[in-house]
Amino acid sequence: MEDFAERMAAVVNYKRTGEHKPGWGKNKQKTTLNQCNTHVLRGGVLYYRGSVKNPGPLREVITTVERVQEILRHNHSVPMGGHSGVTATVKKISKHYWWNGIQRDVEAFISTCEACQCFEKLKTQAPTLKQIVVVEPLELVGIDLIGPLPLTNQGHRYVLTMTDYFTKWVDMYPLATKEAKGVCSAIKTFITRWGAPKRILSDQGKEFVNQLNKEVCNMFGIRRSVTSAYHPQCNGLDERTNQTFKTRLGKLVDEHGLGWDTFLDDVAYSLRIQDQASTKFSPFFFMFGRHPRQMLQLCSFLWAVLFADTFSV
Ligand SMILES: [Zn+2]
Repeated sequence: MEDFAERMAAVVNYKRTGEHKPGWGKNKQKTTLNQCNTHVLRGGVLYYRGSVKNPGPLREVITTVERVQEILRHNHSVPMGGHSGVTATVKKISKHYWWNGIQRDVEAFISTCEACQCFEKLKTQAPTLKQIVVVEPLELVGIDLIGPLPLTNQGHRYVLTMTDYFTKWVDMYPLATKEAKGVCSAIKTFITRWGAPKRILSDQGKEFVNQLNKEVCNMFGIRRSVTSAYHPQCNGLDERTNQTFKTRLGKLVDEHGLGWDTFLDDVAYSLRIQDQASTKFSPFFFMFGRHPRQMLQLCSFLWAVLFADTFSV
């Protein structure tokens, strides 16, 4: 890191003064000039923009071990990091930051993450999926109930997941029971946030089919579908989301010793910002056409306003 930091400091110095550092040899000067073409200085911050022929988005250049550790924590071990795997974590970080050896540092960080090591032994095989062709967001939304889970202080025992088949966007709602009323209310929340899906695909459980969502579906003009009794794997996208969800939630509950419903939003967010193998994009990008700004990029001014009592600038 020290060598990398020194080279980046030379780039910053040249961009500011048009001169090389004293004692900076011929070869190093050449490298600095090349790097000036692939880096941009904005507001005193150095960004990497990729090769001249094929520039990418601006990524902040990180030159201290402390910042690297902070970014690794933020993208992996805080609840919103979701304890995602090496590839997913590298991808998330590389959208916003740049330093020498991101892959190596992520691998080392995750290999020593206690929550991940404990869960590695409990890994289960995700079910094989049956392909369902969809061509637009919210054409088909899969709905599923997970539980019963341990009762939380807020009185929750179940999670309702609603997953869009096209974007893979997922919403998670904690429920006290699996009765129609709570499920209806969650579906209505989904609709008021994102608009009505064309179709909702559910398991055949009677809590979904017989009693439920008639009123909500009628109200919003949605056709209801039922998974065929002979092909229960048809609703597989949700099954796989549920697997990832349970693993991530389990790690956080073990790590923090708090009720699982404390982390629902964080886990949902971590799934939304992770690139999907099938689409190569994150659900967030598919829904909004842009990557979310990272928490770490929130300006300190805003933190100071939000937490005026505890922060000083
Ligand atoms: Zn972890």
